[in-house]
Amino acid sequence: MSDCLFCKIRDGHIPARVVYRDEVCLAFEDINPQAPTHVLFIPLKHIPTVNDIALEDRELVGHLYTAAARLARERGHADNGYRLVMNTQRDAGQTVFHIHLHMLAGRPLMWPPG
Ligand code: C5P
Repeated sequence: MSDCLFCKIRDGHIPARVVYRDEVCLAFEDINPQAPTHVLFIPLKHIPTVNDIALEDRELVGHLYTAAARLARERGHADNGYRLVMNTQRDAGQTVFHIHLHMLAGRPLMWPPG
């Protein structure tokens, strides 16, 4: 079995509060939420970092964004706004090496982030 945490969530070996799933991606509530809405969108395909996204993954990455925008509309965040961010490598604070799009919403978000 892969020792990737998010592959284990994808495969149901570790529990998560899943909010959306289709043939390309999975979305679940972040276990340590930093905003009233904090959802992670991951591709089913294991890709460690943004550095590893191949040209053939372009549609997959766009898919994460359209799934996130749909959830933002459903949760009423489309007008007030939300942040989508993919931390990449150590200095950005990436801790799980399976790409994931953070959706943060439901409060004013500071910029620049720390
Ligand atoms: O961008 P980064 O790699 O730091 O994000 C990983 C995220 O995965 C964290 O926000 C963390 O709370 C979340 N996480 C989770 N469920 C786990 C382990 C980590 O939602 N079982």
